[in-house]
Amino acid sequence: MLIKIKGNSYFYNSRGCIGIYIKDGSATLIDTGIDSDYAKKVDNLLKEMDVLVKSIIITHSHGDHFGGNSLILDRNPGCIVYAPKLESTIIKNPIFEPIYLYGASPIEELKNKFFMAQESRVDEIIKEGKFGDLDIINVKGHSMNMIAVATSDNVLYASDSFFPESILNKYKVPYLYDVEDTLNSLNKLQDTNYDFYVLTHGGLRTKEEAKLDIQKNIERINEVNECIVEFLKEKNTVEGVLKYISQKYDLYVTIQQYFLNISIIKAYLSYLKKIGMIECFMDGKMLHWRTK
Ligand SMILES: [Zn+2]
Repeated sequence: MLIKIKGNSYFYNSRGCIGIYIKDGSATLIDTGIDSDYAKKVDNLLKEMDVLVKSIIITHSHGDHFGGNSLILDRNPGCIVYAPKLESTIIKNPIFEPIYLYGASPIEELKNKFFMAQESRVDEIIKEGKFGDLDIINVKGHSMNMIAVATSDNVLYASDSFFPESILNKYKVPYLYDVEDTLNSLNKLQDTNYDFYVLTHGGLRTKEEAKLDIQKNIERINEVNECIVEFLKEKNTVEGVLKYISQKYDLYVTIQQYFLNISIIKAYLSYLKKIGMIECFMDGKMLHWRTK
């Protein structure tokens, strides 16, 4: 069932939220979900309402956000796909996601639909600013150039820009690409004043819930930064830091999650080096990190 938030703003949520903005008998989808089967559920519900999808806005290039594009495009002639620059490159070439996680020709374990959704065309690059009735807001950090979409109903489809406490408790150290950008985006969102926030993983949040979530996300990032700085008072490698953080937070570890986790650790190390807290150097032919 599509859930109406207010005005023209809806969402569908069972395996990750898809945002839906319906106006004058046509819909704009904000992301299309993990795969065709999932997108079909939303499209069927829209067809029951006599609504055609006229545009898709993809917030970022993670597989669970654009995997339903091909189904929607097949069933809605003339539908236009919008995505931010950089993100669109991966949407058009999903193999880049396992490549950047692995750093070379990726192992088969990384070529699943979570890392590599079905490729899709992108018709137009979308940028921060007005987009008809909608407002596009850059919230990069979790992904290279992620966007959130605000509607004239004062609803923000916030994608993966923050996570509710339940997800934070489950994953402990959520995926991010750039710590500084993530913190900037979280601080920017903390100053917003939407009535509702829709999270891909977490669903509908009231303003009060969202503000609390955002604060918890900021606190967790600061806590991880402090842990790494403390741990690196003695030099160690990336793998050493990963092992320490994985044990400290009892992180969920599979082969796939390992590559996400090591990527997260590298993002933290980049940030801490950039702000002058740690340094890297070669030792015994291996790259090491140490607090300054
Ligand atoms: Zn994501």
